[in-house]
Amino acid sequence: MNRLRGNAQCWCGSGRKFKRCHGDQRAMRRRPVQPGRVGPLLAVPSSITPPDYVNGQLPVTSSSFQVHSGESLERLRVACRVAAEVLETVGREVAPGVTTDYLDQVAHEAFISRGAYPSTLTYKGYPKSICTSVNEVICHGIPDDRPLQEGDIVNVDVTGYVEGMHGDTSATFGVGEISPSLQALIDVTRDATLLGIAAVAPGRTLNAIGAAIQPYAFAHGFGVVVDYGGHGIGSVFHAAPHVNHTVHDWDTTPFEPGMTFTVEPMITAGSPNHHMWSDGWTVAANDLLPTAQFEHTVIVTDAAVEILTLTAQGSSPAGTLALVAGETLTPKP
Ligand SMILES: [Zn+2]
Repeated sequence: MNRLRGNAQCWCGSGRKFKRCHGDQRAMRRRPVQPGRVGPLLAVPSSITPPDYVNGQLPVTSSSFQVHSGESLERLRVACRVAAEVLETVGREVAPGVTTDYLDQVAHEAFISRGAYPSTLTYKGYPKSICTSVNEVICHGIPDDRPLQEGDIVNVDVTGYVEGMHGDTSATFGVGEISPSLQALIDVTRDATLLGIAAVAPGRTLNAIGAAIQPYAFAHGFGVVVDYGGHGIGSVFHAAPHVNHTVHDWDTTPFEPGMTFTVEPMITAGSPNHHMWSDGWTVAANDLLPTAQFEHTVIVTDAAVEILTLTAQGSSPAGTLALVAGETLTPKP
């Protein structure tokens, strides 16, 4: 499996070289993101039950799978619906001139008004209620006072804790008018995420996810981050299994009905090699080219898979499986 090269014909059918069309890195490149000022901790009303790790306890990580049915699944559905609603609410606020700190405030209020604790707030010392990852930031960007600029892209990653369960979802949004190649990066990342989810079914194994995602990204000339993956989720924020988004043939853990985990590939315009900012959280691409990410919390069903992070109307800024079953899929090479 080879990544589409710059001199190859673009997958879109324009007849132009990829590097002069949807792989035009000069058109995608943005001024490097500089760390901004991080605002004070936002308060959570005492009526909202926080997870165990708030108030100084170490976060529980679990080496067992999260498996849910019946009553516990109903509670997880609530947490996932809340996360989807918060993501949709924040997504509507993304615009040029808006700071990521403002997006954090919107999310914080949206969680609290639904009786949910923002899972990232004070998690291992993390200071904010969401992650906002702009342009070359791959994941775990901290909201700050940097105003979003026309042509930026920003991933908003929200996790909420309510009814004793965590629901986790993210989407990448364009800020104002963005270049066609950045729109392609976003579209390919969303569709790769959904194709990875659609590969999940009982009788298959965990490596089916990366086997669906990586060739799709590579065929479109984009890279896939290796070192960060999805995770089991439910009563625990981060549990087994680790979900690879790249091809890992050895990863033959079978899917079992009731397993709940995230699928959240990070797709890069350039190389997936990365570094950490001195804040200890922000992960950025070494070549400073933009990256995109989408994420859903899913459950293995008796028949296949179901996305849990959808609004009551069944929608999500991260897309639904109807997108990859229908004809709106990004053109295949
Ligand atoms: Zn093209």
